[in-house]
Amino acid sequence: MRSYSEKLYARSRKVMPGGVSSPIRAFPPYPSFISRGEGGMMCDVDGNELIDLCLGYGPLILGHGHPAVFEAVMRQANQGMLFGAPSVQELELAEKLMQRVPCADMVRLANSGTEATMHAIRLARGFTGKDGIVKMSGGFHGAHDALLVRPGSAAMDRCIPGSAGVPEDAVRNTLIAEYNDLEGMTELLTERNDIAAVILEPVMGNCGLVLPEEGYLQDLRSLTEENDVLLIFDEVITGLRLAPGGAQERFGVIPDICTMGKAIGGGLPAGAILGREDIMSLISPAGDVYMAGTFSGNPMTSAAGNAVMNQLDAGSYRSLDSKGKKVSDAIRDIIQDRGINACVNQIGSMFQIFLGRDEVKTHADVQECDAGTFRSLFLSLLETGVYLPPSQFETNFLCTEHHKNHIDRIIEAFDTSLREVFRSA
Ligand SMILES: *Cc1c(COP(=O)(O)O)cnc(C)c1O
Repeated sequence: MRSYSEKLYARSRKVMPGGVSSPIRAFPPYPSFISRGEGGMMCDVDGNELIDLCLGYGPLILGHGHPAVFEAVMRQANQGMLFGAPSVQELELAEKLMQRVPCADMVRLANSGTEATMHAIRLARGFTGKDGIVKMSGGFHGAHDALLVRPGSAAMDRCIPGSAGVPEDAVRNTLIAEYNDLEGMTELLTERNDIAAVILEPVMGNCGLVLPEEGYLQDLRSLTEENDVLLIFDEVITGLRLAPGGAQERFGVIPDICTMGKAIGGGLPAGAILGREDIMSLISPAGDVYMAGTFSGNPMTSAAGNAVMNQLDAGSYRSLDSKGKKVSDAIRDIIQDRGINACVNQIGSMFQIFLGRDEVKTHADVQECDAGTFRSLFLSLLETGVYLPPSQFETNFLCTEHHKNHIDRIIEAFDTSLREVFRSA
């Protein structure tokens, strides 16, 4: 029963394009309007309780309303929400990130992942004096012009190869490569000498979930180095999530520049650019690469981010990893028992089930999956009380507040919903 959501959606479509503030949130027949979240759960306006595996598309690694984050934010609100001047809170956030993230000699704070990658690209171009940027097919780095070419996420769901309104000139220097294809990348980088940087999600999280093949990130690191090309890891999702130092810590591969967002803001809007000192010192006012923002490094986000990092220890990551594995293994058992043609990719607290393929290793594999049947699975799970991101081309997340009872319920729900969706098959 979601009749109040249905009503609200009719109302919001008159006011907001597509009824939402960001495209992926609108799913047919109508999205659920959420009234509150607590721990690993959300409640919609019709009173349905949902286990939340979307978690704001990744940021809420401690779940909703964690007491430590809540308290830090309330304390900060009481002291002032915005100063337009430096604060201890932002300094501490930058220091904490530096301690954790291997590539980070210095940190510049921003307000979103989009901003972070936009700035990182300007920085790479400013540092190298070259204009070319290589991105991966299916990689998503936010909604700014230069990288809105063959993106993942919602743009991919609708099969838009980019976006209307992006001038050809804006993407003239953007080249596309295939993730996990080192040969193609070698060709591209040796053929051209105008490439400033390769930007990629070290683990692809915006076209479902695609993992790096053994040695791929290491080889990509060597290849970019040999060709005088900067390596940018977009760790907006993987940062803080896969390890304290993100995917670069987990895989032992250090990029020149890294972008972060999502989890570092504890649920408030956040972004960061981190990297080598000789590169980072080009950022204004230290250097000539301009970056600015009224809300950048704001004390509210900083207070929330600091609280999140204070809560996460080695045990948190071990537990997130084992929960991710447990859910994924259980879903694999279910699809095997039923003879369903599907597979599950997982790393740490990120996982995704792919329908219609027994293996997904590339973006091309993802594109062949059965997104229509996934939609049915999503709606059935919603009915059963489990809220996923509403697309085959997103990743599901677990948080520290998903306890054993939640994990059991998630597995049961997949069991029920997969049975329902594939009954006729
Ligand atoms: C979400 C995301 C972004 C964009 O971040 P916003 O905060 O939504 O602007 C950039 N890169 C990756 C890898 C993301 O997942």
